[in-house]
Amino acid sequence: MAPKLKDPSLLKQDVCYVNGEWVKAKSGKTFEVFDPSTGKLIGTCPEFDAEDTKAAIKHAAAAFDTFRHKTGRERSKILRKWYDLMMENADDLATLITWENGKPTADAKGEVTYAANFFEWFSEEAPRIYGDTIPSSVPGNRVWTIKEPVGVCGLITPWNFPAAMITRKIGPALAVGCTVVAKAPGETPFTSLALAELAHRAGVPAGVVNVITALGNTPAVGQVLTTDPTVRKISFTGSTGVGKLLMKQCSSTLKKLSLELGGNAPFIVFDDADIDVAVTGAINSKFRSSGQTCVCANRLYVQAGVYDEFCRKFTEKVREFRVGNGFEQGVTHGPLIHDRAVDKVEQHVRDAEKKGAKVLLGGHKLPDLGPNFYQPTVISGMTSEMAMASEETFGPVAGLFKFETEEEVLKWANATEVGLAGYFFSRDIQRVHRVAEHLEVGMVGVNTGLISDPAAPFGGVKESGFGREGSLYGIGEYQITKMVTYGGMGQPLQK
Ligand code: NAD
Repeated sequence: MAPKLKDPSLLKQDVCYVNGEWVKAKSGKTFEVFDPSTGKLIGTCPEFDAEDTKAAIKHAAAAFDTFRHKTGRERSKILRKWYDLMMENADDLATLITWENGKPTADAKGEVTYAANFFEWFSEEAPRIYGDTIPSSVPGNRVWTIKEPVGVCGLITPWNFPAAMITRKIGPALAVGCTVVAKAPGETPFTSLALAELAHRAGVPAGVVNVITALGNTPAVGQVLTTDPTVRKISFTGSTGVGKLLMKQCSSTLKKLSLELGGNAPFIVFDDADIDVAVTGAINSKFRSSGQTCVCANRLYVQAGVYDEFCRKFTEKVREFRVGNGFEQGVTHGPLIHDRAVDKVEQHVRDAEKKGAKVLLGGHKLPDLGPNFYQPTVISGMTSEMAMASEETFGPVAGLFKFETEEEVLKWANATEVGLAGYFFSRDIQRVHRVAEHLEVGMVGVNTGLISDPAAPFGGVKESGFGREGSLYGIGEYQITKMVTYGGMGQPLQK
């Protein structure tokens, strides 16, 4: 039986939100969206094309002319109202997330709060956008800066956090006075569309937030967003490959860019760590959303002195998981998003096994549950030749590497083109500082596996991209700094 919403009008079928109205694709074409747990059809969404996207951009541009001049306080109130409505409708939003993404209801509820918190956080930043007064080096000149909204923003987000990835971008964009065209992920569009309905109810002016959908036409929609001169900024969260493509496309009009791309997080447990804390951290970091977050631990390095104890305690905890449909009571871990994700996990496990690793737990598909399910898996005896050492697995597989020295593990940890998150566990204060400074990543978790927080800057280095989301730094991504110099202002008065 299909899940029920308390407010069924939050499930938007066959329509996108453009210029304050619910519209179909001009071609009338739609695509289907399926429940990853059951494989059943959830509904259909408009297949927007280049022309539809251009129309949405035009409306966003028209709305920008007035929205940019609203006061920070006015924009703050709109965001705050949207936050309140998200919290009031948290159960329905969580239902939509579980339905289209598969994550268990408790995780989906956690995501709704996390997502809404970006609106709350940025509603508090909106009235506090200051420029600078700068002492000039030229006598008689006065210099100051104004922070202005960059303009129309194109936002592209993935399916793994259907609510939070989009609010993390819309929150700061609206706080500073930008307008947006957001392309929802083809796998999980209904959460984004429900958020658009709540935007409407919150009084977001027409054209300020436009949410569009596409599946087959995604490259064409992306092409328009990245090349239309009216769009002044692209913020993208997704894979490194697509990020590179979008950056190339953006070069034709030199857009401001934020790229939140793939990770390959090292997770290091030193001999001096509290092992129980490290086990909990590893469970949280590795298996959240069945391993499908960009900050999930991908390589678990454990020092030789505690390796066996860690393997035993960690495997015991993973054995307690219950895999199944996210709506079922007691289920701790849901499916992967589609069978291609399952195939990648399977490849990584078989590759490790073939090269000498030992599967301590799991290691197989779960066809009785459905084609998208995989056993939570623990593998020991990992080495750097195995695919998991260099590729993001994005699934419920923990590969444990044994290391001897700090120098050795730091070399391994940094031996990757990407650098998003990194974690380590130690009770030695000098080591804590040393290792935190040495890891080539944008975010470090010390003695914790959970680092996401709207108040903290989120983002990567190397091929994990650039730009920061959340926090006071998230605001600047949507602004330009305009400098104004007044000449001939005279000399100081003589006494
Ligand atoms: P993906 O790059 O395939 O897709 C992400 C989004 O881009 C989707 O909405 C997709 O429709 C769209 N897209 C794909 N091709 C496009 C094109 N040519 N033009 C315009 N849009 C296009 O990534 P995915 O597999 O859906 O998501 C998982 C990846 O995202 C992982 O690598 C993960 O690490 C990364 N991720 C990063 C962060 C972060 O904050 N750094 C957060 C979540 C996920």
